[in-house]
Amino acid sequence: MHMQEDLKNTQVKNFFDQPHDQLRDYLKAKGHKAFRADQLYSWVYKKREESVESMTDLSKDFRAEIDSILEFKRPEVVEFRQSVDGTQKYLFDVGEGKTVETVMIPLKERRTLCVSSEVGCNLGCKFCFTGKYKLKKRLSAGEIVGQFLEVNDRLIKAGDKGVTNVVFMGMGEPLDNPEGVFGAIEILQKDKGLQFSRKRVTVSTSGLVDLIPLVTKSGARLAVSLNGSNDEVRSSIMPINKKYPISVLMDACKKHIEESGQDVTFEYVMLKGVTDDMTHARELAKLLKGVNGMVNLIPFNEHPGSGFYKPDNKRVDEFQKYLLGKGIKTYKRTTRGDDIYAACGQLNGVVKGNQPKN
Ligand code: SF4
Repeated sequence: MHMQEDLKNTQVKNFFDQPHDQLRDYLKAKGHKAFRADQLYSWVYKKREESVESMTDLSKDFRAEIDSILEFKRPEVVEFRQSVDGTQKYLFDVGEGKTVETVMIPLKERRTLCVSSEVGCNLGCKFCFTGKYKLKKRLSAGEIVGQFLEVNDRLIKAGDKGVTNVVFMGMGEPLDNPEGVFGAIEILQKDKGLQFSRKRVTVSTSGLVDLIPLVTKSGARLAVSLNGSNDEVRSSIMPINKKYPISVLMDACKKHIEESGQDVTFEYVMLKGVTDDMTHARELAKLLKGVNGMVNLIPFNEHPGSGFYKPDNKRVDEFQKYLLGKGIKTYKRTTRGDDIYAACGQLNGVVKGNQPKN
């Protein structure tokens, strides 16, 4: 359907929105040779050159016409902040006065980029800062790939190794925007694109069960925002659970594990007095028994007006110890970047305070 729309559409397309095959078909429909797509991909994604004048092997005719069919437009950084722990937070302008946040978390050899997929989110998880704002925009593939390119370029320019992992855990529910998210994943992963390793891309979902097979097909890793060990608790903090209860979600996860051969990460936000009871730890252990996966315990990062609180450190340790004792790989996520509000569940598209540093 999209291809047909493309062929009819006479507007200038954004290069960064086009997975390789889509670009090839578009150029062909405009009367150009299919290999022009290879040439453009190679210049932009391998040689990192976005100025058409510098693309020396393009024919004069093609170069002369390119402006009328393609533009090279990436979202711009409008604010940048760096935490004392090295975490970087970027605010990107995605048009119409809307912004999204992207966070880069350095940890030993890793440079993990947490990208946003939507402005606002309709899933309305009660503990989430982003979820307070209804969906305003689904990002295009180019607006997601642009977050990667900008941060990666900056890291490399600063003498760093560049982004090593991409996680779709920023603003928005990735599976509520399959076109943008899987288009971006294709550009990131394809040989003709950025050649980013499949296993280094993770898609996190609050549980849009019907679309989990798209993650399996893409080769990306799956993370599930579980956050509740029984339907009553989970439904009270995540409305999506009323549509897809835990048993349905777990079946989809098991199917993904079987078909992809990869483990699933279960994110578990610990909310004081809501999800941090030891009965929850016991329920969680039962739920995950025999499932190839690991648990990420995320002590809640308090933010003004949320109505939820951070659990006691002692309880987090106890919870982890119990799950480990049951043979479940369990990690505690250390809060990074909370001095700049870049921690999990704290992204809302507003950078408070400082002006951009670069
Ligand atoms: S946790 Fe994720 S899915 Fe839930 S409201 Fe926030 S951004 Fe949306």
